[in-house]
Amino acid sequence: MARTGIVNGQKVWTSVAHLAQLAILVARTDPSRPKHAGLTYFICDMSAPGVEVRPLRQITGQAEFNEVFLTDVRIPDAQRLGDEGQGWRVATTTLNNERVSIGGRAVPRDSGILGAVARTWRENPAKHTPELHDRLLRLWVEAEAGRLAAMKLRQRVAGGQPGPESSALKLSYARGNQQLTGLELELLGEDGLRYDDWTMTQLDRLDFTTRSAGYRFLRAKGNSIEGGTSEILRNIVAERVLGLPVEPRADKDIAWKDLSR
Ligand SMILES: Cc1cc2nc3c(=O)[nH]c(=O)nc-3n(C[C@H](O)[C@H](O)[C@H](O)COP(=O)(O)OP(=O)(O)OC[C@H]3O[C@@H](n4cnc5c(N)ncnc54)[C@H](O)[C@@H]3O)c2cc1C
Repeated sequence: MARTGIVNGQKVWTSVAHLAQLAILVARTDPSRPKHAGLTYFICDMSAPGVEVRPLRQITGQAEFNEVFLTDVRIPDAQRLGDEGQGWRVATTTLNNERVSIGGRAVPRDSGILGAVARTWRENPAKHTPELHDRLLRLWVEAEAGRLAAMKLRQRVAGGQPGPESSALKLSYARGNQQLTGLELELLGEDGLRYDDWTMTQLDRLDFTTRSAGYRFLRAKGNSIEGGTSEILRNIVAERVLGLPVEPRADKDIAWKDLSR
């Protein structure tokens, strides 16, 4: 007989859950194993009975993500991806790919946030200072280096899976976006504090370029959280790319059920 699991839980910050037909769900299936070992990865049908999606409004005014409540949701074993207990491995592969898709997407030169900030710069010559000019050029060089590194990584992904280098890419993308959008607000002064549209909308895609500088500044704050925080990505780069000593992890061999929470 086919097995079916019953899932109860709540998940915050689920991007575009209001549009999704399928979601990924990593469930703790064996609490007697250490925390990374007792997980299994499933695909959850968002139209299944017991799945409830509530919008979460974020600092920009929009609700890109949602709270998702699962009450007695039945997930058949056929919707398991990978072996039981291998959920962390599958999730790591998902996250590496997500980091390439966030930090390494194909953008033409001078487009995206960099293009928008450069346009603001060109449209406001009276506000130029040598210091801002210097910072903008440094950020332009970093963004260009990131764009070329992303191109290389995408070519490698075409032949397999991305590795931990995806974390470096996403880390530099988040830092660059936050520095560029901060510089744009400084350049605009008081004008930069005018917010264009505070309407609560539920989005299907990000729009970093046509919205105001204030929107870009606020939305870029999430870049160092989504897809893995910058602190965690620095740990990954240090340990798995640069081979530096690993962080002490006292809980890694203890059964999840015995950890204090
Ligand atoms: C716009 C946006 C969209 C998102 N979409 C999704 C989504 O679709 N699906 C989804 O699952 N999540 C989504 N998230 C959530 C996001 O991926 C997580 O919140 C994020 O990865 C951090 O995990 P956490 O909240 O569990 O933080 P925690 O793990 O609780 O960490 C809290 C803080 O402690 C720091 N920290 C934790 N451990 C360490 C350590 N070992 N060393 C140094 N610092 C540490 C973290 O950097 C962080 O600042 C989204 C978030 C945003 C902003």
